[in-house]
Amino acid sequence: MKVGIIGAGLAGLAAGLELADRGHEVELLERRPWAGGATYSFRDDDTGDEVDNGQHLFMECTTAYRAFLERLGTLDLTFRQERLHVPVFDEGGRRSDLWSSNLPLGLHLAPALLRYRHLSLGQKLQIARAFLSLRFLQVHERGRLEAITFHQWLREKRQSPDTIREFWDFLTLPTLNCRASEASASQALFVLEEGFQKDARAVAVAVPATGLSALHVDPAIRAIEGRGGTFSSRAGVDRIDIKDGRVSGLALREGESRTFDAYVSALAPWRLLPLLPEEVRRMEPFSWLEAFEPAPILNLHLWFDRPVADFHFAAFIRSEVQWAFNRTRLGGEEESRGQRLVLSLSAPGDLFDLNQEQVRDRILPQLRRALPPAREAELVRYRVTKEPEATFVPAPGLVRPGARTPLPNLFLAGSYANTGWPATMESAVRSGTTAAAALDAWANA
Ligand SMILES: Cc1cc2nc3c(=O)[nH]c(=O)nc-3n(C[C@H](O)[C@H](O)[C@H](O)COP(=O)(O)OP(=O)(O)OC[C@H]3O[C@@H](n4cnc5c(N)ncnc54)[C@H](O)[C@@H]3O)c2cc1C
Repeated sequence: MKVGIIGAGLAGLAAGLELADRGHEVELLERRPWAGGATYSFRDDDTGDEVDNGQHLFMECTTAYRAFLERLGTLDLTFRQERLHVPVFDEGGRRSDLWSSNLPLGLHLAPALLRYRHLSLGQKLQIARAFLSLRFLQVHERGRLEAITFHQWLREKRQSPDTIREFWDFLTLPTLNCRASEASASQALFVLEEGFQKDARAVAVAVPATGLSALHVDPAIRAIEGRGGTFSSRAGVDRIDIKDGRVSGLALREGESRTFDAYVSALAPWRLLPLLPEEVRRMEPFSWLEAFEPAPILNLHLWFDRPVADFHFAAFIRSEVQWAFNRTRLGGEEESRGQRLVLSLSAPGDLFDLNQEQVRDRILPQLRRALPPAREAELVRYRVTKEPEATFVPAPGLVRPGARTPLPNLFLAGSYANTGWPATMESAVRSGTTAAAALDAWANA
């Protein structure tokens, strides 16, 4: 069957690979000159370094994304921990690590939490109480978790504002790209259950050791093309035409059009809606998509003239820095001549509106306070990358669609689909393979 896939982000690439594997003739239509969507890399003119549009990490429990890399033969181009180990620095440079021990599931984080110096004993007892509540969550309680914020749930479990800010927001920022006050309780608890209650190794962190394009974008395009598929860049879709209750064709930006037997939308919800006729937008599940809001992420890339970090990555507490990744070490490069750090700032708020220099001037002094070796080091280069539509806000009340739609030959993929996972590479890959399987089943029915 001839299949048109709109959007060549991870969801489109995963759908394309799965469909091509199942013998369909696919064309990926991408509005930009390059593929990858929210995940790509480019060459920094000054240094020649491969820079990501935004630092990404994944975890042991993100099995679909790991399997995708295995299928592409690139899982080895990642740095993967056996078990969780994250150095955490406070605003004054005091370090205390979080790690996962060999104790049985449920107790595996206890030794680290007991020794963790950035929280008081009272805060640790609150956290233990919240984890116990999650463990014994009753079925009847689950229903309302969709409707309330994680913050509300935490307050019900008697978590203080300090504990929410210094521990729970610390977990939701990198995983949900928002604070507890914005996330639905069900989405946040899903992450906690996947990460902390199923397998002691689940939260072991993995980070690309190479640029995202070399890791999964280019290999996926090559694999799709190797199976007879096509990647068309600068092929933005302007309109999805509907006739007799099915998609009849796509109108492209440059006045061209394309016709296929079936279609996969692998677009963000706010990108898909304007392409559809008004009467289709009013139908479920399309009408649910109005409620999705994009959320930004900002990255500050810093080149220092000497080593400043003795870790692969670290987290920061009571500081706007959040997370730092030592790209030089992750890439296995020589560190004595300097290090490149990438600071990943989720839910950046007003920082997002500042220019590059203003971002540097606000964040660098905080990094230097929290990371003493950076105080003496000279910053030889910096750049800021901003992604205004990095993720969707996992707000209470969102209804996430499945792959099938009332238009029988249109299927939905994208990290916003009902995979259970937040807006992540895991969700994008899962949604792409699910949409491909649904399309294939429909084609063979
Ligand atoms: C800075 C940043 C950091 C992140 N950190 C992490 C992380 O650490 N871990 C993690 O798992 N996830 C992370 N994410 C989220 C993750 O990258 C996304 O959830 C995922 O990649 C989304 O994939 P997608 O295919 O659903 O959507 P997208 O990547 O948005 O793909 C949609 C594609 O459609 C194209 N398109 C749009 N309109 C049209 C049109 N009209 N016609 C044709 N094409 C069109 C777009 O150009 C794009 O290529 C991060 C995202 C960003 C931006």
